[in-house]
Amino acid sequence: MRYRSTRGTGATLDFEQVTLTGLAPDGGLYVPEAWPQLSRAEIAALAGLSYVETAVRVMRPFVGGALSDDELRTLCTQAYGRFAHKAVTPLVQLDERHWLLELFHGPTLAFKDVALQLLGLLFERFLSDRDTHLTVIGATSGDTGSAAIDALAGRAKVDIFMLHPLGRVSDVQRRQMTTVKAPNVHNIAIEGTFDDAQALVKAMFADQGFAGRFTLSAVNSINWARLMAQIVYYFYAAVRLGAPERPVAFSVPTGNFGDVFAGYAAAKMGLPIAKLIVATNVNDIVARALSAGDYSAGEVTATAAPSMDIQVSSNFERLLFDLDAEAVPAQMAAFARDRAMQLTDVQRGGAGALFAGVRVDADEMALAMRWACEGSGQVIDPHTAIGLAAARATELPAEIPVVTLATAHPGKFRDAVERATGVRPALPSRVGSLFEREERYDVLPAELGAVTTYISERATPGA
Ligand SMILES: *Cc1c(COP(=O)(O)O)cnc(C)c1O
Repeated sequence: MRYRSTRGTGATLDFEQVTLTGLAPDGGLYVPEAWPQLSRAEIAALAGLSYVETAVRVMRPFVGGALSDDELRTLCTQAYGRFAHKAVTPLVQLDERHWLLELFHGPTLAFKDVALQLLGLLFERFLSDRDTHLTVIGATSGDTGSAAIDALAGRAKVDIFMLHPLGRVSDVQRRQMTTVKAPNVHNIAIEGTFDDAQALVKAMFADQGFAGRFTLSAVNSINWARLMAQIVYYFYAAVRLGAPERPVAFSVPTGNFGDVFAGYAAAKMGLPIAKLIVATNVNDIVARALSAGDYSAGEVTATAAPSMDIQVSSNFERLLFDLDAEAVPAQMAAFARDRAMQLTDVQRGGAGALFAGVRVDADEMALAMRWACEGSGQVIDPHTAIGLAAARATELPAEIPVVTLATAHPGKFRDAVERATGVRPALPSRVGSLFEREERYDVLPAELGAVTTYISERATPGA
């Protein structure tokens, strides 16, 4: 399997290379050259398999020759052995047709763990054969940072520098990052917003003088291996609800379009998916693009679902490329210039067949939380509630089960959950003595020079 850039230029990469890289040199994102196919018989044969075995069968065509099946199985066993639920991503029934797929049983309580626990092991495995030291730089509004730090803490040949906006992440999120004591973990609180932190990271990748001295890598969802790991749970859930005989719909709380793009990949591989519901909060660029073809960014509005407070949805480019590749370079140039562009008719038609974009406001979100709580005793987090509200608002034939991806543990967003339901969820014991442990982070101004100096003094030059 080879991977090419969505901007259509430059060399193709193999799985190992694509895992260790971030953005393509032409500014595009890497995608597989072709979608591997699982036949109906192969999908039917997934029924009853463990999560790890499902993962091996779904991911091995993407991994190609980079790992043997046994090596891949060993890494998956290690990654998913850290989950607090034996089923890794269990399904929970809400009523006759609505289900939750709980993706938050990993160490840091959000679905980001599903991909990042594996990515950390893939980094270590691929770096062990190389004379390379990786410097991972990322910006986080909370969940990616804690999941990436947990996955990379203490691993050989990799340092992680994680920028978060000072005072703008929740206490639980900050402590999950700053109480990790491994010497290869560096937390930086930026005096600014998440957008400022994100802009600093992009500027560092583009700064030749700085980037040239280190082997920089990314852990946000522009990394292909992350999306690959997320395809697995679509198969795992669908076969338990009757696929391939019975098609299933999914509702996905969406920010950067990574998670729902993994669902699209599952459909392209042959999984019968009746609908992919793209649930957004009031930051609804993707819902607008899917319903009206208008991909234009506004200002970010802060909501109770902060991991979805995004205006530029990076992975949407992967979908546009898959539907109408030729149009993408000009569309992305237009977006960079005007922060707005239009989908082509081919892209709109192709997306319309599978996706439904639904925007959910704060009242609808709170209503969905109460509905789940009163109807089935399920306490859900604000992101999941947006997915569930969108699922319930979408018309589908009665025989289609609808699975809402539960992307975060309610304990991670206790205040918002308590406001909506009156129930204050507990933090699971696996996060340990989060509030007793000492925190460690440095505060820096939102200035490129200050951050590059800080990192240069602490990172290992790449070979
Ligand atoms: C990251 C995140 C999302 C959004 O996922 P994307 O892949 O960026 O669309 C939704 N919910 C939670 C809890 C998250 O952490």
